[in-house]
Formats: sequence, C-alpha cells, structure tokens
Amino acid sequence: MKKILMLMTATVLLSCSGEKKGKEDNFNFRVEQFADLQILRYQVPGFEELSLKQKELIYYLSQAALEGRDILFDQNFKYNLAIRRTLEAIYENYQGDKSTEDYNQLVIYLKRVWFSNGIHHSNSEEKFLPGCSPAFFAEAVKSIDASLLPLEEGETVEAFIEKLTPVMFDPSLYAIKVNQDPNVDAIKNSANNYYGENITAAEVKKFYGDMLDPNDATPVSYGLNSRLIKEDGKLVEKVWKIGGLYSPAIERIVNWLKLAENVAENDKQKQVIQTLIEYYQTGDLKKFDAYNIVWVQDTLSRTDFVNGFVETYGDPLGFKASWEAISNFKDLEATKRTEIISSNAQWFEDHSPTDSRFKKDKVTGVSAKVITVAILGGDCYPTTPIGINLPNSNWIRKDYGSKSVTMQNITHAYFKAAEGNGFNEEFVWSDTERELIKKYGAMTSDLNIDLHECLGHGSGQLLPGVSPDALEIYGAAIEETRADLFALYFTADPKTVQLGLLNNDDAYKAEYYRFMMNGLMTQLVRIEPGKTIQQTHMRNRALIAHWILEKGAKDNVVELVKRDGKTFVVINDYEKMRTLIGELLAEIQRIKSEGDFKAAQHLVETYAVQVDPVLHREILDRYEKLNLTPHRGFVNPVYEAVKDKKGNITNIKISYTEGYTEQMLRYSKDYSSLPSYNFKP
Ligand code: ZN
Repeated sequence: MKKILMLMTATVLLSCSGEKKGKEDNFNFRVEQFADLQILRYQVPGFEELSLKQKELIYYLSQAALEGRDILFDQNFKYNLAIRRTLEAIYENYQGDKSTEDYNQLVIYLKRVWFSNGIHHSNSEEKFLPGCSPAFFAEAVKSIDASLLPLEEGETVEAFIEKLTPVMFDPSLYAIKVNQDPNVDAIKNSANNYYGENITAAEVKKFYGDMLDPNDATPVSYGLNSRLIKEDGKLVEKVWKIGGLYSPAIERIVNWLKLAENVAENDKQKQVIQTLIEYYQTGDLKKFDAYNIVWVQDTLSRTDFVNGFVETYGDPLGFKASWEAISNFKDLEATKRTEIISSNAQWFEDHSPTDSRFKKDKVTGVSAKVITVAILGGDCYPTTPIGINLPNSNWIRKDYGSKSVTMQNITHAYFKAAEGNGFNEEFVWSDTERELIKKYGAMTSDLNIDLHECLGHGSGQLLPGVSPDALEIYGAAIEETRADLFALYFTADPKTVQLGLLNNDDAYKAEYYRFMMNGLMTQLVRIEPGKTIQQTHMRNRALIAHWILEKGAKDNVVELVKRDGKTFVVINDYEKMRTLIGELLAEIQRIKSEGDFKAAQHLVETYAVQVDPVLHREILDRYEKLNLTPHRGFVNPVYEAVKDKKGNITNIKISYTEGYTEQMLRYSKDYSSLPSYNFKP
C-alpha cells in the first residue's frame, strides 16, 4: 500500500524545481481531453546523456513493462479483454456512418476503457456506461467480420452480443470493482477478477488466516500472486507464473528481462533481475521476498525498475496484487535533496509526535531518490503515482529497509500542463495564499512527496503480535493517512529550513493551504454527484482535512468561508494546525501499531467517506466553468532500438509524437498475448 498519487488539483506552480528552460518551451504537455479525462505527455530529460548500455537496459525494461498490460485488464474484470478487443475491432473496421453521435460515443467509451484498463472507472472503481445505445453496439458488432471478434468456442455472434450487452449497459450488473462498503460482502460484491464464483469474504479471510503462522517472523505475502477459486467445493489458488495463469504474458516479460540481465549495470542489479525471473518462473512467494531484498539493496545503479504483482488496492481485502511496471533512472541533481532526508531519518523518527512504544529505535536503510520515469506500464499507466515506496512486506521493510522514489518528471509535467488554467484564481482565498503557492508550492510539494515516501511509510512499528492486516478494509486509508501526516508535520518543522530543504520559515504554509483546500473542497471534482469517497488517497486526505476542521473549530484554526456565494478555505492559525496534525499523527500511529480496528473504522467512516452534497455541487459547477477535467493520465514516449548492419544496437532513440489512440492501438497489437478469456467462468 505504498504509493502516492497526485494531490488532485491542477494547482499551478510556476517556480517548478529542476526546470530546464529552452528545450521544453515547445514541448506539448497536453495531448487530448474527453469525458472526465485529460491525457498528458511527460518528458524524459537526461535520457540522451545515459550510456548506451544504460539506455539499452531501460529499453528492455520498458518492453517488459508493456507486456503485462493484458494481465491488468483481466485482473480488473473477467470481460475486460473481450470488451476492449471488440471495441477495437469496431474502431478499426467499422464501415458505417462515423459521423453519428452513437459512433462518437462508442469511440469515447473505448478511450475510457483504455484509460481505466477496463470498464470500471480507475478512480471511483464504478462501472461507467457507454454513451451509445445497445442497439447501435449490436449493429456495429454485426457489421464487422465475425473472425475479428473474441468469440468463445462455438459461440455465435448473436450469443456474444447477448452476453456482452448487459455486462456493458446494465448499471446494476458488476457495478463496482472494489467494494469497500462495510455492510456487504466485500468479495461477492466486487467485480474484480481476483476471486472465482461463490466465494465469500469470510472464506477468503479464513483461507489466508490459516496460512499465517503467528510465530513466523518472515511471512510471505500470502495470496499475492494468484486467483482464488473454488474447485469441487474447495478453495484452490491459480498462481500467476510461467506455466500457470497468465503464462503467455509472463513468458514475454521474462524474455525481455533476460535481455536486460545481460546489460545490467553491476552484479547486484543482475541478481535483482535474475531473482525476479526465477520468481516469475516458479510463482514462489519466497522468491518474491528474496527479489525484494536484493532490490532494496541495489542502491548504486543509476537505472531501476518495478515489474510485477505489487500493490493490493484492487482487492478489498488486500491480498491480491495488480500487475504494474515502471522503468526509470536516477535524477542525480534532485536526489541530493532526498539524501539529506534519509541521512537524517533517525532524527525525524525520534522527533515524531508519536508514543515512544510505537517508534523504531533504529531506522534501517531508508534509501530515497528522485527518479526520471522512462516508461509507465500496467497499473501505473496511463494514471500514475508520483511517488513509490517499496517493498510492501512489513518484515522486509523492518529488517532491510525500503526504497522510496519521487517521480519528478511526472509531477513536473502535471504542473506544466496546468499552467494558466485558472484554477488558483477560482479556488484560492486571496492573493496572499496564491503568492505563497507561487513561491513555495513546487518546493513544498516535492518535499512532501519525499517525506511521505521516504520517511512516512517507513516510520513507526507494530507492537509485537499485531497483524499487519488487522485494520482490514481500513488498513490502506489509515496507512496513507499516517504517511501524509508525517510529511505534513515535518514540512513545518524548522529542521527543514536548517537542512536547506526549504528556504523560508513560511514555505510550509503553501502546502498546508493546498492540502486543506484539496481535502475539504477541490478533490470532490473527482467524484460524481451523489457518490461517496472510495479511493484510498482521497479518503486519507478527506480524513485529515475534516478532522482538523472539526477539532480546530473552537480555536477557529481553519474555516470554510463564503464570498459571493462561493466557498473558500481560510486558514487562520497555521501553527495550531500543525499541532493538530501532530495529535492526529499520534493517534493514527497508535491505531496502526495496536491494530485498533474499531478506531480505524470510526475515523474513516466519520471523516473520510461522506460528501456534503451542496458543497459538492458548487465545486463541480465552478470547476466545470474552467473546462478542466478531474482525472489525468499520460501517454508514454516511444523507444526505438537503432541497429547497425550486424544487428547490434547502436543507440536507443526516444520520441514524443505518438498520440493517445495510436499508442493504445499499438499496445493492443504489439503487447497483447493473453486469450480474451483466461479461465472458464
Ligand atoms: Zn503512500
């Protein structure tokens, strides 16, 4: 659960750090906009300066990062691949009138399916519906050659249409991908594909609970890399590995990894890649732990990557991991900042406002760096985190530390794409706050990501005997709350100025203001009217902001003020706000360390889920007028291997011209090895 997403908001930060003027002036960060989505493009500064070997390595790892795309589609929902392929077949072969609204809506639907890696919204987890009519869909399917459709064996086109139509058009069927409603069965009511039919949450908890040996200090992440099904009434795991489920895609990933292994920068990195290959070959979760340990230890390589079944946000019970990948290389200049933070990790741990019983006596191996992302794949594409802290295994983090990264070329692209969009003028209270944000926003935002990833997740410890899964469906939101609070608390500490991380004692106010504005108001643009907050990071930000608003009310610390019928956040006392952040951090750490499920449930349900419908409507209306979209994702650059006559690679060329549709269609052609149905329902 260690991944940070962009703080919603298109907040404009003019003084973006690490900015290279000149070359990027003509760079088009905005690609296109449709439905509630905007597609952006990121740059990969510094790629040209890498050695040929490093470029080659990035190239192979990037290929490996694209090969798992189908896995994610299938993990998200059992009909995703069939639906995507059907829509693509129509898009490429339809001979009818393409000027109709129905056709236009079908294309938008396809673009949304690409964006969310399936038919459920990547943010709300809810199924979105096609804007075209079912009759048009049926007509379009029938109009193309049946051999282009992903029919099952012996299936007629009519039966195929009859099967998919309710799946796509009926809002009550497979309505939500990850159901976190505490009043329903989380497994039965989630549309994801991690579990077979007729399995209950209680059965899953028991199945994996029985595997856990309370005396095992180094447990594997049970259930992480398999689909759990019932066979003859018995629960059985279908493991994702070579020779197992998703084998065709994993074989291709491994082929690229083998090429990468040959050009590894050093023996450590070679070992990392080898161990990952062995894990993919065996599906053995002990191998996965071994891989994570060597991966954490590989701190000297310039290049790095993530590739595998990593994050468990897609499973309401947090066992199953979605497939994701990133390849990247270190931003040497910006990494100096994170090195200052990690070399002072113990100071931060010691000065955290949490109870000493929950603190680490010795903070191990916090290695932090700022990276330049070279490719996004799987669950990191096209929506991406802006920071990552891995591995997720608690005991590995405790014994070996973790690696934390800030993805600065991505945040940079967000900021550049948002310039001049009118957001700050509309939502920020006054010029004072706008000035603060303009002056210090970029600096404090970067620092917050660093602190969140590099120290926040790594701080604190569980009391002996407390299960890391004790908080169940509230675990992820509480964990993100903890990391955010840690970052917010220390951003305002004079130590950050002493260490040269910030250049002014008031700088932190920019982040405090942005955070409260986002948590109380502007992140609501990502939610549809009438809906509640489901996404983990949105929940944690709402939790913090609403708790501070309530607890600070008697001292008027933060208030919501109306001006000309519009609501604004006003912060009256920044210092008291920091005190409250400290208090909440202490409580959240206690909840985590003691595994206090009841308290976690109370905080999340009270502060993090509900939405004020009147304020929500107002924010949506104001946002709409700016013609901005609430969700954003990226297209990748294209890498091309240049070869000499003998077939040796002489260079890797990078280009930024590929469009969104072009890229998605190419990926569906070049990196698509799985059958449309990977099991018998
Ligand atoms: Zn996080």
